[in-house]
Amino acid sequence: MTQTIYLALTHDWELRGDGSGDIEEIQFAPLRRLLAIYEKAGARTTFLPDVMQQLRFRSLQDEHPELKRAADSWDEHAQEAYARGHDIQLHLHSQWSNVEYENGRWQLRGDWSLLNYDQDMATKMISDSRSYLENALHPVDPQYRCVAFRASALALAPSAHLLSSLAALGIEIDVSVAGGVYLNNDTLQLDYRTCEEGFLPYYPRMDDARRISNQQEPIVCVPLNHFYGSRRLVTKQNLALAKARFSSTEKTTAGPARLDSQSTGLARVYEKLIAPAIKRKHFVSDTGRLNYPLMCEMLASIRQRARESGLAKVPVVLTNHPKDIRDWAGLERFVGEVADAPDLKFITLSELAEKIRSGEFRVRTAETSHR
Ligand SMILES: [Zn+2]
Repeated sequence: MTQTIYLALTHDWELRGDGSGDIEEIQFAPLRRLLAIYEKAGARTTFLPDVMQQLRFRSLQDEHPELKRAADSWDEHAQEAYARGHDIQLHLHSQWSNVEYENGRWQLRGDWSLLNYDQDMATKMISDSRSYLENALHPVDPQYRCVAFRASALALAPSAHLLSSLAALGIEIDVSVAGGVYLNNDTLQLDYRTCEEGFLPYYPRMDDARRISNQQEPIVCVPLNHFYGSRRLVTKQNLALAKARFSSTEKTTAGPARLDSQSTGLARVYEKLIAPAIKRKHFVSDTGRLNYPLMCEMLASIRQRARESGLAKVPVVLTNHPKDIRDWAGLERFVGEVADAPDLKFITLSELAEKIRSGEFRVRTAETSHR
């Protein structure tokens, strides 16, 4: 059987989680650089802008001309990416729901997890953000529709109402669920260690997207891919990162933006260097945070699981955070090799949703096995 793996390269395009960061440096410049890399490889990908951020910039732009300039440029970059064949779909950081802007700095006071908002508040954030995107892109393409969603910090489940609200707003696929992710700190609590499907698209139970429904549902979860890196490569990447951090002056902002910010020095050494050497390490498939050898392991893991599925066509969603890209040369090499591989194709999230709608991609229910 010939098998084709459809890779959806996606990007969470946003400022840091606490609202900090220079927008030109961490959003606009990396987007332009990515577009150049993708153009060379003929790759069409998907950008998932945090639209809550943009709504806040717009809401204060009359008093703060620098916010208007940035917001206008945000629109232009999104439109340019779309005009060049990429897809733009919805991501949002709920922490922008309650903000202050003083002396050119944002204070974000809203809860980081959509799961902690009631149905009306969550629906309003999603609906306002979706409308903003559609209005921004309709001048480029009147047919544009927002059909795919990724939640703030991947927090989608469990929720009694979130999936139904998304479906009611026209969202056909969610790409938030990454098996194995576990967060439990002051900012976020999330437990995806027991997801019933970590690889193939499935109909989620409407009250808990970690579980597979036994029937067709109005929305499909396409897992955000994850894999386990080998001890050798994980240790190597960590040593390189530690060295880079040591030799550069500390310029990254600490704070809730970094999920591991709680770790103290010693705990960090254990977590980063020793623990991974003991067991294989869990990774979300993020082409911005992996170096080239780990991207190769990620791809080997994807091919292995695709083979095991026995399906002729397998869609796989990867992510990237342009603000954090570590290995630009490695990313470019990876994208070029995917473009040349006969068993791999790039796909946008709109195309992925369309192939699910048409039945070209199989969607699991609890009653069907992989095959
Ligand atoms: Zn994000």
